[in-house]
Amino acid sequence: MRNCLSVTVVALCAVLTTADAARAELSVFACEPEWKSLVEEIGGDLVAVYSATTGMQDPHHVEARPSLIAKARTADMIVCTGGELEIGWLPVVQRRSGNPRIKGNSESVFYAAEFVERLEIPESVDRSHGDVHASGNPHVHLDPRRVGRIAAALAERLQAVDPSNAEAFAGNWRDFDARWRAAIADWETRAAFVQGARVITHHRAWSYLFDWLDWESVGELEPLPGVPPTTRHLADLVDATTREKPSLILLATYQDSRGANWLSDRTGIPVVSLPSTIGGAEDAQDLFTLFELIVDRLVTALPANAQ
Ligand SMILES: [Zn+2]
Repeated sequence: MRNCLSVTVVALCAVLTTADAARAELSVFACEPEWKSLVEEIGGDLVAVYSATTGMQDPHHVEARPSLIAKARTADMIVCTGGELEIGWLPVVQRRSGNPRIKGNSESVFYAAEFVERLEIPESVDRSHGDVHASGNPHVHLDPRRVGRIAAALAERLQAVDPSNAEAFAGNWRDFDARWRAAIADWETRAAFVQGARVITHHRAWSYLFDWLDWESVGELEPLPGVPPTTRHLADLVDATTREKPSLILLATYQDSRGANWLSDRTGIPVVSLPSTIGGAEDAQDLFTLFELIVDRLVTALPANAQ
């Protein structure tokens, strides 16, 4: 209502104020579907969220195409994983967008991985060891306990970025937090009997899920992070499986399953394909249904001798 001093412009001001209210929702650029979903849980209809990637894409490798840059240009806020997950494309999008709100240490820049303890922080970064993430494993969204902590931080940040809707954000967060805690308790009960399971994974994308479930990864199909499986490495894994006796070979639905199937054919170990995020399977439509589906598929797939 700035400049609404004269009665002659009151009518015009009323129109403008209505227009302001109509576009009052915060425009958020999320890098991955899990953060889009979390922003929607806390922001409700006060936010309009766009996700730069889908659940069938590898979030490490995304093209900084013009449509992404256009979305970033008009965003009020970005919510991404951080921790170098998007290092190959997000800095380009941020720079080319010319949007100061989504760059640097601005309040409207939120990197989820910064709010939780990270696993697998390397003592030194040697790129000859593959696509190593220097600040630890960034795939933090697959531990629902960490998602809960990120939700609290995100609620605080949304309140800071848009104080006019602070009360609504706080209320939505309290509601989410209660439902999320109840869901975690349920998933933990269902997965409790498979504690200590040993698995082989395609990429180290599941470490936080294993940290939560108390599972152990005994090898990766990738010889080095980000490097596709090779015949030589897969042959070595056949030997490793006789020693380590893993129960499952795990890969994300977007990943090439040839290496996993090759190993499975030779060892008899079943392959389980899981959505690594929302949209990675038809039924994984939000954070709740994502974990529901992951827990369900794991518990169902685990052979009796591992339970
Ligand atoms: Zn990774």
